[in-house]
Amino acid sequence: MHPTDRPRRLRTDGVRPLVSETSLSASDLVAPVFVDATTDERVPIETMPGHERVPVDEAVARVEEIRDTGVEAVIVFGIPESKDPNGTRAYAEDGVVQRALRRITGETDAYAIGDVCLCEYTDHGHCGVIEESAETDPTLTVKNDETLDLLAETAVSQADAGADMVAPSAMTDGQVRAIREALDDAGHEDVALMSYAVKYESAFYGPFRDAADGAPAFGDRRHYQMDPANRREALREARIDAEEGADVLMVKPGLPYLDIVGDLRREFDHPIAAYNVSGEYAMLHAAAEKGWLDLEATAHESLLSLKRAGADLIVTYFAEDLAGRL
Ligand SMILES: [Zn+2]
Repeated sequence: MHPTDRPRRLRTDGVRPLVSETSLSASDLVAPVFVDATTDERVPIETMPGHERVPVDEAVARVEEIRDTGVEAVIVFGIPESKDPNGTRAYAEDGVVQRALRRITGETDAYAIGDVCLCEYTDHGHCGVIEESAETDPTLTVKNDETLDLLAETAVSQADAGADMVAPSAMTDGQVRAIREALDDAGHEDVALMSYAVKYESAFYGPFRDAADGAPAFGDRRHYQMDPANRREALREARIDAEEGADVLMVKPGLPYLDIVGDLRREFDHPIAAYNVSGEYAMLHAAAEKGWLDLEATAHESLLSLKRAGADLIVTYFAEDLAGRL
């Protein structure tokens, strides 16, 4: 008895690369950069080994380190010098991200993306303007329409500072249209928009909240971020953002939501991005530290799975470490 089909014939060293369906390269990756207005020196982020918050003066050096590995794109997050209820430092002309973007785009050839949200800048840690009663009201919600103007202002201020692309992550209904219109009105019709179209209320964001100091002071984000139980709703969210003018549609987190990446790939012709989030990074690091997993191999396999599921680009904390070895 001989098997009728022998897939193993195509697994020898000589032919494996010829029939490989998916590849990963440095040009697929976007590296997050944390710029911190409260420090004069680089501060390691404990829950994300290998990552640091850097002062504005170090932003260019940080980006050059990333570019030296072959990664050309960065997404900039900010830790402001002060916070208030309306997150005013998110859209200040001399805000930490605006100052960093000016330097990065003026002094390097990096493709610079600005993350557009308010949670790192509000004293309550939520992604927009909140109800007055929020602190005592368990049905707390961010005021949707009041937040739109602030997000649009943030995006325009980042574009004014040189951002090549803005990436709204607040899950505010209508944010893509509001930002697109504001950018166009300000003469930034060439600035691209990558929407965090499908962002789940996930427990995998923990380490990032240490990194960006953006944990909510009370409550959680389940009234505006998506329920992890929902799959069809992801297509609805993505469709809205596509219609409102998003150039790239993102799914966040990545690994626990590969089905969603696949769904968006099939449904849309837009480039699809996946955010391989801080928890996905931290868990591999923690296991590797214990000697339980091979860090490089599991990181590579993780990112490859996001590509295989349909992502064109991946925002990942592994960008630098992997790029040099691809
Ligand atoms: Zn936010």
